[in-house]
Amino acid sequence: MVKEAEVPSTAQTTLHPLPRPASQPENLALKCPKCKEMLLGRDWEKNLKVCSRCSYHFKLSAYERIEFLVDPASFVEMDRDIISVDPLKFVSRSQAYATKLDEERESASLNEAVVSGHATIEDLPLALAIMDFRFIGGSMGSVVGEKITRAIELGIEKHVPVLISSASGGARMQEGLYSLMQMAKTSAALAKLGEARLPFFSLLTDPTTGGVTASFAMLGDVILAEPGALICFAGPRVIEGAMHVKLPDGAVTSEFVLQHGMIDAVVHRRELRQTLAKLLRLYAGADRSK
Ligand SMILES: [Zn+2]
Repeated sequence: MVKEAEVPSTAQTTLHPLPRPASQPENLALKCPKCKEMLLGRDWEKNLKVCSRCSYHFKLSAYERIEFLVDPASFVEMDRDIISVDPLKFVSRSQAYATKLDEERESASLNEAVVSGHATIEDLPLALAIMDFRFIGGSMGSVVGEKITRAIELGIEKHVPVLISSASGGARMQEGLYSLMQMAKTSAALAKLGEARLPFFSLLTDPTTGGVTASFAMLGDVILAEPGALICFAGPRVIEGAMHVKLPDGAVTSEFVLQHGMIDAVVHRRELRQTLAKLLRLYAGADRSK
């Protein structure tokens, strides 16, 4: 006997509006994890959270990235209140998934691992979805997939390009098949964007892995990456464990995948906004559908 699905995989909430993460109290100093240089908090913030000595790019929250990338006050957020309904009622050895979601919402001040909406860069409009690694490692569950798909559909509806910035440990295993389905769903939405002859710019940040790499992140008309980002399907430790080989240093970084033709450019954070503006202008000029 067939039973109809009782619960949709996502639901709207009526949570109170989430506060934007308040700008953190200025760290007086912090250590670069790569070169161990001590960095002054103020200078580090001014340098877009990039190490002034070795150019190590620290992770950004979704809102910080939006602030760095788009025109001031141009971002309009959408679908902020969609949350997962935990369709599998998943419980791991240590914790129920529902409890984990509550805790993550609280600690990251986010409802999910992606923030989406529309904005302008140098007055050129675009739809965008920006992932946030702080929320369960930026994993793609049903809500992340849904919000990304809606951002792509917004691009089609408004006839504007789409930008997705990835930062993800891959699919969210607590949602099983619901999570894996998002790979197909986002890819299908991008195919429709392509049919509408609208460009998709994919920005890969540290780390972009697993089901995200295996779906929308690698489908960009132009794929950009920040320097030194981990970009792979399986991480180096998994590959080494499974294949019993030692990978060369830097084998799964932006620079390596650029050399091997998987992406189009590695762009320093301070040049990202101009690069995207240039691409938006270029593709607007090439728009033949009008
Ligand atoms: Zn450094």
